[in-house]
Amino acid sequence: MVIKPKERNIVYRCPDCGSSIFGLVGRFALKANMLRLKCSCENSLPLDINVTNDKKLRLSVPCLFCRQPHNYVVSENVFFERDLFLLNCPYTGMDIAFIGDEDKIQGELKRTEAEIQRLMTSLEAEELSDIQPTELSDDEILCDPAVFDTLKFLVCDLADENKIKCPCGDGSYNIRYFGKGVEVYCERCGATHAFSATTPSMAEEELSIDSLELK
Ligand SMILES: [Zn+2]
Ligand SMILES: [Zn+2]
Ligand SMILES: [Zn+2]
Repeated sequence: MVIKPKERNIVYRCPDCGSSIFGLVGRFALKANMLRLKCSCENSLPLDINVTNDKKLRLSVPCLFCRQPHNYVVSENVFFERDLFLLNCPYTGMDIAFIGDEDKIQGELKRTEAEIQRLMTSLEAEELSDIQPTELSDDEILCDPAVFDTLKFLVCDLADENKIKCPCGDGSYNIRYFGKGVEVYCERCGATHAFSATTPSMAEEELSIDSLELK
């Protein structure tokens, strides 16, 4: 018998002071309440988790790199049953929140800490705020964030059901902005599939597909 964990760790970095903020999410606690994690420093944005009507978790995660929250929808199964699940910034591709086993998360925190250090060094930045934009201008926003949310959700679901095929046979999949739209890519072999959806209603239509092949 497989015992399903009832709690999951979630960690994000405060965009203001860079501290790692740890939270524990209980399967049952979450059903009753919205969960909010917040850094103790001034003006910090909270990470919010809400349960949607169809039992998905909707997360709003402050981004260390953009200084604004990004939204994600994750199924309850993915949230509570994966050893490790990463949420990444759609603009920079950097991982901004970590869900899963505490050990695995600690490993990821170390890895991304080094990544941030390298980024800061390469940009000759002294403080976090030196790598953060003051404001995102209109032409930096490539496509509607709702399109990204919907397609991210679709890709997670298909990946969960092993409905994504790619040349390496055993990839791990993620999505990113590409041109004016969104594409899914394999983190292992780099194969991709570009979605043609650019508006939320077009993205909704994509939800009817039941498999994907990356090339
Ligand atoms: Zn802080
Ligand atoms: Zn971001
Ligand atoms: Zn692959």
